[in-house]
Amino acid sequence: MSSPKRVPEFPATACLLSSIGGALITVFAVYELTLGIFDPSVVESVLPGSQPIVIALGVMGLVVGPLIMGLSVQLRRRPASARRLGWEVAVLGLVSFFGGGGLYVGLVLSVVGGLLAVRWQPTVVARPLSYSAPVPPPPLGSALRPCPSCGATNVAAARYCATCGASLS
Ligand SMILES: [Zn+2]
Repeated sequence: MSSPKRVPEFPATACLLSSIGGALITVFAVYELTLGIFDPSVVESVLPGSQPIVIALGVMGLVVGPLIMGLSVQLRRRPASARRLGWEVAVLGLVSFFGGGGLYVGLVLSVVGGLLAVRWQPTVVARPLSYSAPVPPPPLGSALRPCPSCGATNVAAARYCATCGASLS
């Protein structure tokens, strides 16, 4: 916001992907927790003794998912930190693997969104014209002028013709 011409920019695609990814991870974690706590017979029928694991993974996803969503909000608010925030989103996306990763769609979206944020560059805004380009020296010919009397060329600054001495002014 250093200049009024600067459009507020942020890595929009990265924000979108990581917020969807974080939401999917969160939703799936809630589903895991619900299943683990309220319907353990289903979990136990798939893998006996897995109820505590499913609950632990659900808790993990419930931490990682909202964290990713929070980071995507920060990406929008502080695009200058996009690189660091992007890495955090990508790493958390990988960590979400252990929480089910929002059926791995959330994981992929978070990692891709994070890496997009890391690679994101603000488009270069044209500088305000605070200076003009240096004026090139005039072509040699214009620095010379012919003598009205004898036609010999003299430097433009000369008052009298170097050849015949006639006044050039
Ligand atoms: Zn002359």
